[in-house]
Amino acid sequence: LKKLIDISVSLKNPMPTWPGSIGFRLESLMGLDRGDEANVSRLDMDVHTGTHVDAPHHFVHGAPTVETLNLETLMGTALVVELPETDAITAQHLTELEIPSTVSRLLFHTRNSQLWQQDITEFQPNFVALTADAAQWIVDRGIALVGVDYLSVQRFNDSPLTHEILLTAGVIVIEGLNLTEVQGGFYQLICLPLKIAGAEGAPARAILLSEE
Ligand SMILES: [Zn+2]
Repeated sequence: LKKLIDISVSLKNPMPTWPGSIGFRLESLMGLDRGDEANVSRLDMDVHTGTHVDAPHHFVHGAPTVETLNLETLMGTALVVELPETDAITAQHLTELEIPSTVSRLLFHTRNSQLWQQDITEFQPNFVALTADAAQWIVDRGIALVGVDYLSVQRFNDSPLTHEILLTAGVIVIEGLNLTEVQGGFYQLICLPLKIAGAEGAPARAILLSEE
């Protein structure tokens, strides 16, 4: 039997979104309580809200968009590593973790996950993310997918280099995971971004399955 862990965050208002973003809003267009024959809602958000996938087109002009991403990369064995004390994930951290060479999907459980768990709805700029040399380490190791537990794979005040290195190399990036209930180890990841033609990213539902 497999245990299922939902590592997606709820889309709701309020929730933390990137500064300058339009935020998240669900608006009723039709309502049973107003005499309409059904409930119908309208969704307002940018595609980098909550748990979502970045496609190369996010930072690389003319690069692949989200509906073309390989679903086989988005499903399969993933290693979760816990870095509770870390403020910036560097290449040195990654080297010290002694990650097996067979790993192709890597998810980082940091102190960020607590922000989702505690339902901190204001954006927190001091979140943990990857430095550019960590991004290069991931590319050099042939890792195909990385996941982080806040809204960006690069730190708030860093240059776009972390994104650029990963996305230029075709590494799929999942952002906005809640890994609170996930200990370090191997899991089966299933992450399915919405099939939005031409978009540089898309909201996704992500789950982990573990052997019990
Ligand atoms: Zn993004």
